Amino acid sequence: MVAEHLAAHGVAGPADMLVIEAGDEMPGLAQRYALRERTLAYGESPWPRDHIDGYEIEGPLQSRSMCVGGLAMHWGGVTPRFSPEDFKVKSLFGVGHDWPISYEELEPHYEEAERLLGVAGEQGPPGMDPRASAFPMPPLPLTYNLELLRGWAQKAGITMWSQPSAKNSVPYAGRAPCCRNDTCTPICPTGAKYSPDFTWDALRKAKRVRLATRTLVRRLVPERGSSRIGYATAVARDRPNDVLELHAKHFVVAAGYAWSAHLLLLSGVANSSGLVGKYLTGHRNVQAFIQLPLALYPGINEQHSLVTKQFMRVSPDDTGGRYARHDLRIWESASGRGPRLRDDAGALLLGDGLLRDWRARTKTGVARVRAYYDVIPDRASELTLDRSRLNGWGDPLPQLAFRDAPESAALRDFTEDRIRTLFTEMARAGNGVVARTNVDDFQDHPAGGCRMGADPATSVVDRFGRTHDHENLWVVGAPTCVSGGCANATLTFCALSLRSAAQLAETL
Ligand SMILES: Cc1cc2nc3c(=O)[nH]c(=O)nc-3n(C[C@H](O)[C@H](O)[C@H](O)COP(=O)(O)OP(=O)(O)OC[C@H]3O[C@@H](n4cnc5c(N)ncnc54)[C@H](O)[C@@H]3O)c2cc1C
Ligand code: SF4
Repeated sequence: MVAEHLAAHGVAGPADMLVIEAGDEMPGLAQRYALRERTLAYGESPWPRDHIDGYEIEGPLQSRSMCVGGLAMHWGGVTPRFSPEDFKVKSLFGVGHDWPISYEELEPHYEEAERLLGVAGEQGPPGMDPRASAFPMPPLPLTYNLELLRGWAQKAGITMWSQPSAKNSVPYAGRAPCCRNDTCTPICPTGAKYSPDFTWDALRKAKRVRLATRTLVRRLVPERGSSRIGYATAVARDRPNDVLELHAKHFVVAAGYAWSAHLLLLSGVANSSGLVGKYLTGHRNVQAFIQLPLALYPGINEQHSLVTKQFMRVSPDDTGGRYARHDLRIWESASGRGPRLRDDAGALLLGDGLLRDWRARTKTGVARVRAYYDVIPDRASELTLDRSRLNGWGDPLPQLAFRDAPESAALRDFTEDRIRTLFTEMARAGNGVVARTNVDDFQDHPAGGCRMGADPATSVVDRFGRTHDHENLWVVGAPTCVSGGCANATLTFCALSLRSAAQLAETL
């Protein structure tokens, strides 16, 4: 995003902009139908060589992909914005920390991110879903099932709309529209879903950037007698004995929530606050499956969903004076409802028998509902260097521990009970029943570790992502987040990166 913004604004060309990527190139679009076939037939990963051997992180499970395009080669492409409240929970609710920027300041960068990714979306009610401009593409159409589920939500008093997604609803950026192959995660065979390799391909084809792959940055080194970063050292994985020295006027660390803090800690830079690696953040979810007397046809684009911001845009009065904010999404669930070759007694089913069995089991439907809720991060929610585990070059690998701030830990039962009560009320409104609920213990869309702030004593970077300690060192995107909000966060990471890029362009 940063490279694309700088190139588009004529600030930097290939002689000026060098991007270093530790991982390998990923298979191009032309190979993705075949890769999808093998994934469906054999359960193979469609992304060979997307990890670096020996480069492991201890801590809660998240994808550890390192490759051209990063984690978003795997992503689902779901792109909601945060809501204005996310940026000022301390002022509004007296918990956590305010961001040094507002939703309104981020709005133009959200717009740019939506344009660059190619987001298809439906404008929700403006009071719930504030936007200064239309989405770049019309929404992905709601399936028959989602239309029925939207009617059910309405009966429960909840207004829902089509989830914004970085998936083409019409031809866009030279790529095809979505044709509902329904394998967005792990692989979209048509290119309808955005992935970052498209950006790299376009920038390289237009000769706007040089991208060095299989090259791992190991240190950022300050200039002697100055607070500026002078150069970075790196290792080319194919020539491990050579030490590369990379000199530049500005350095942008865009290595995601884990590796950005890791690099700064290894380098011993940007850490006068002692907060590099601290305040890791994300959101937890409560999920339920609700059986409903609705004739849903299982398996029509299961990856698309309805969304609402009704429970994000609340005040303390709405939640009994206590802090609880969450999103809400609804999907059809086809789990266990596909056609089968044997009935419950194990008898073989073929032809009409198979269809009769399938029809009987699909007279009613199941909705999957899920709420991501805001977790206030603790200072000790942290990435540290584990000196007992070294990578191939002798550097300590990271250790991650996500921890709720005490006020958030105290609110956990209240919040999760509140969400479960909502699910029960929703089921009742549709004459249905909640079949089961669960809480995933990890925090999704991890972020933080180099949080932004106005005060150098309590933050690592300023409101534009420039480190307080080094005027030519920037950290962008996920690591700069103050909190994880309560919606998929990558669009926000992109908007933050573009805001940093605009400021860097000014500086250059
Ligand atoms: C299965 C899955 C589904 C997801 N679905 C969604 C979704 O629907 N919506 C959503 O909002 N988010 C989703 N996400 C999350 C989303 O993919 C990430 O938030 C996003 O891709 C993070 O991008 P990033 O640039 O911050 O970091 P990364 O993608 O991790 O990129 C960092 C890059 O830096 C490179 N790097 C790291 N250290 C070094 C070094 N020292 N030297 C050189 N290179 C280095 C890495 O190799 C990597 O390529 C999903 C993630 C997964 C895994
Ligand atoms: S439904 Fe299919 S075509 Fe559409 S984005 Fe997903 S994988 Fe791509």
